[in-house]
Amino acid sequence: MSGEKPSYDAGKVEADRQAAWAERGAFATPQPADGQPAVYVKPSSPFTSGNLHMGHVRDYAIGDAYARFRRARGDAVLFGFGFDAFGLPAEMAAIERGVRPADWVERCGERMLVQMKRLGFSFDYGRAFYSSDEDQYRWSQWLFLTLHEAGLIYRDDATVDWCDTCQTTLAALQVEDGRCWRCHEPVRLIRRPTWFLRLSPYLDENDRNLDRLESWDELSLKTQRYILGRTDGVEVDLQGPQGRALTAFSPHRGSLAAARFVLLSPRHPEVELWAADAAVAERLEELRSGGWERSARDAAAVPLIDTGASVAGPAGGELPVFVSPLVDARYGPTAALGIPEVDEADEAIAARMPRAGGAGAGGAAEVSGAREATRYRAYDFSISRQRYWGTPIPVVHCAECGVVPVPAEELPVRLPRDVEPTGEGNPLAERADFLEAPCPRCGGAARRETDTLDCHFDALWLWVPAAVPPEGRATEMFSHPDLRRWLPSERLVAGNDSGGFVFDQRVVTKALRDIGPFSFLTDGEPFAGCLFHEMVIADGRKMSKHLGNVVDPDELVAEHGADTVRLAVLYAAGPAKTLNWNEGALRFASRFLNGLWVYTHDRIAAAAAAPEDAEAAADTAFIRERLGKWCDSGVGRIVADLEQLQMHKAVRNVTRLFERIQDYEKRIVKRRGALSRPDFEALLEALALLARVLAPFAPHVAEELLIALGQDVSLGFPSPGEEVPLAMSSKN
Ligand SMILES: [Zn+2]
Ligand SMILES: [Zn+2]
Repeated sequence: MSGEKPSYDAGKVEADRQAAWAERGAFATPQPADGQPAVYVKPSSPFTSGNLHMGHVRDYAIGDAYARFRRARGDAVLFGFGFDAFGLPAEMAAIERGVRPADWVERCGERMLVQMKRLGFSFDYGRAFYSSDEDQYRWSQWLFLTLHEAGLIYRDDATVDWCDTCQTTLAALQVEDGRCWRCHEPVRLIRRPTWFLRLSPYLDENDRNLDRLESWDELSLKTQRYILGRTDGVEVDLQGPQGRALTAFSPHRGSLAAARFVLLSPRHPEVELWAADAAVAERLEELRSGGWERSARDAAAVPLIDTGASVAGPAGGELPVFVSPLVDARYGPTAALGIPEVDEADEAIAARMPRAGGAGAGGAAEVSGAREATRYRAYDFSISRQRYWGTPIPVVHCAECGVVPVPAEELPVRLPRDVEPTGEGNPLAERADFLEAPCPRCGGAARRETDTLDCHFDALWLWVPAAVPPEGRATEMFSHPDLRRWLPSERLVAGNDSGGFVFDQRVVTKALRDIGPFSFLTDGEPFAGCLFHEMVIADGRKMSKHLGNVVDPDELVAEHGADTVRLAVLYAAGPAKTLNWNEGALRFASRFLNGLWVYTHDRIAAAAAAPEDAEAAADTAFIRERLGKWCDSGVGRIVADLEQLQMHKAVRNVTRLFERIQDYEKRIVKRRGALSRPDFEALLEALALLARVLAPFAPHVAEELLIALGQDVSLGFPSPGEEVPLAMSSKN
């Protein structure tokens, strides 16, 4: 250690540490020892966009701090992820550049891996994967077949946007003001067969489990409740014509007698019975193909069809039955009583009623037969898309046998990778080598399904592969013994726009528990803990190229170093708050790390020259003891913050501990003029402790400081009450 003031060269420190980590395989997933906690920290699965953005940096900085903390406490940690590589954004980007999506995705992923490594994220990179890899999507196909066999996937008509010029269906984000994104011609809505995932069997359990998810933060639970859309109320059976009954729901349990009409969802299982009249049926079909999803939430404009039928009101009178998707937007595919007296949306409907409804008695009348009931807004969603870049759906269409699943042993149904889509038509429909297949049932000529799975379907199990060693994925993805070790994931760290993914992952986990592969996950939950964080914005606005306010992590890292950027992102805001990026947090982090670096090296040099002075040492023993207590309580606070993933608080407490250490030195200088050797020893031990608690947040500089202090980098995370400088007061 030379005497001159060493300045902090983040670039060099980070390159050295990253080389050392790679050399010692610091992030390889270990085999947990008996009784050792096995902690699977699951970060969000990035789209292969080609660029990490600040939201990723936030996500991974939180997850990495937690993974490093658990590792340093002696737990076996799996910190792994895969790219969400299929889907429309990648296909559109490839079309724009005239390249193959397969090549584009690979290039993007490679670049993002370089960025992640440069930021020092401690992923087990050997476990990284792409959902578009054959060994991955064969299991998406397996999952499709498994859920299909269990009755959880079905085929039904759905309304989609269609461009006549491009001869293709369009996703919502490809329709701009009713026109095609590619050719700018007007689009129209068509009905076509689509595959759906059935959620309803598990909504109730997803709901019940929410109370038991103790390690889930408020933000993540809030998204689950919102997606579930639970309403409590009562239901009554109403008598209709020809002995038909209709069960109607209402959240207004005290006002049932004031009901004036019944609204029926167009997706109600018995809607056809009520719309039997030819003219009504025609209007219902129009409604279904009219893209009503877009206006379903607005009671003043929502479509409303008179079925012509009525039911007996719960307190007498006749209630007309109307069909309207307003029900779906509020309570799911059910029937609901319209009670304008107490319900604003119903009031808006009442004003538009094509036929007057007769309330029987007044609002306060007794209603018999009402039962407690719950409705959920969450509903089945479509999982197939008319796109090239996705998991091929493993079914064939046979003229003789109809839709026939491909046998599991014939998977994967391979996606041709040498395709350069243009955005016109469906490339898969033009590939004979893909299209033509023998029917598995009759052996005759058949055609493969040319729709592919939406990447949302791949995401249903994207949290699984990292828990399986790469060499086991081809054959044991859902049966490898390691799954029992790592699942459920101890903690998911993800952006709060991931609520829908997580909700559906929770449903599919329960399905796989009941079907068998995940029978060991008794409560059917993929994540024991969950932390959702808000997004990163700049200048109070969402970052966008258009606004010119995009903050590029690469530029920040090049200028300030990875540790400074990570520390700034963590320090700037708690996870539940939107992070409005500003230079202030960066300046703070930079000042702190530079200050700590210079201070530590300076004191290491000074300690070597400090005198042995027994009398002085005895006189300052009580100050050393106080330092020990400060360290002890500081570590205690940081541990508590880290356990809650409240990294902004933990970083604050790390910086406070540094202030305390400097304060300790000032007090001794004030009392004795200088530090004795034992005083310095206590100071350096406190600095070593500080480096260890800093390591989850700024791992490179922390490890370098620990080495400078002559400490073992494998010391791990300190526990409160253990190895704090209190022990050093006995040295004199
Ligand atoms: Zn078009
Ligand atoms: Zn056949």
